[in-house]
Amino acid sequence: MSENWSNPSSPYRASALVRASMQKSREEICATYGVNPDHLVFTSGATEANNSVFSNLERTAGESSRVLISPYEHPSISEAAQRWFPHRVDCLSAKNDGSIFIDEVENYLRNESPPCLVAVMAASNESGVIQPWKEVALLCREHGIPYLCDSTQFPGKASLHELSLCTYNVASAHKFGGPKGIGWLLGEDASSLLVGGMQEKGRRGGTENFPAIISASTAWESAVKTLPNTNKLASLRDDFETQMENFFPDIKFIGKDAPRLWNTSLFVLPSFDNLKWVGKLDKLGFQISTGSACATNNVGESPVASALKLSSEKTQRLLRVSSWQSHSVTDWEQLSEAFQKASISLEEEFADSSVISF
Ligand code: PLP
Repeated sequence: MSENWSNPSSPYRASALVRASMQKSREEICATYGVNPDHLVFTSGATEANNSVFSNLERTAGESSRVLISPYEHPSISEAAQRWFPHRVDCLSAKNDGSIFIDEVENYLRNESPPCLVAVMAASNESGVIQPWKEVALLCREHGIPYLCDSTQFPGKASLHELSLCTYNVASAHKFGGPKGIGWLLGEDASSLLVGGMQEKGRRGGTENFPAIISASTAWESAVKTLPNTNKLASLRDDFETQMENFFPDIKFIGKDAPRLWNTSLFVLPSFDNLKWVGKLDKLGFQISTGSACATNNVGESPVASALKLSSEKTQRLLRVSSWQSHSVTDWEQLSEAFQKASISLEEEFADSSVISF
């Protein structure tokens, strides 16, 4: 920020250096996906990228055309779909294991009036369940239908190889150790909904966030280009789940029977509201989430909980733990111990409060 502070669009040499550095980042990121660097448009994150696909398509699609989405999508897909295709959104059914039925996608595509866009995420930000995105991509290709795959949860956690089979995919740098407020849309005809400038070859108006782009590509180099041993990382999460099952025999894990990202565990605890657990664990040094981060202040609005028809009582007991590449066996063990301590403390408080309420 102190050296390369020039506006990348200005005509002098200092700006050319900034432009070149931005292009290098673009090329390095695209090399990991194996796609042409011209297919990447930097955005403020996955929300802008997802919204852009719907808003751009709405301008060219027929008035009666519909879009097809999965029931687990992040609000930047489900709400964008409703915003640009009001009352023209079809939603796939939820399978008990947290995934979708690929046959149902095929039926929609074979229909006389197929959807003009399919949106099925690569992996859920809540449950970590990996959807059959490759099958969806191949089906969409066969039927000539654009496929938006929200792959925000993939970089640093799963291979990006073959994501280019999807028409569009998106990223957000803070999901792989980069800064917040920067990400991208990938696709041959990718362009943002933001107009009003010739930046990004006319595909996104607004001065590029150069410091964030450079930071994102640094995080990419260190955490995404080479994946760690994901089987080993998954086994740490699985051991944590076993310890939790031993201590809370009535715990219910979501998505355990489906392929999942190694870093996520979503579960319903047998007692106490999730915010009580979050408060206790925070004091013990662990930051855990309720359903999805966006749903924290909005209890009951977890897409996974509503797709799987969890009762409101269960949704209020829903907790999510997410880890990162650097978390060790000790971190996971200390977390399950912290859950045990929190449980004892909550039981005591609950016993006290019932005496008081008498
Ligand atoms: N899609 C998924 C699957 C996400 O997990 C997120 C962030 O949580 C987003 C989209 C939106 O990302 P951002 O808020 O960085 O734009």
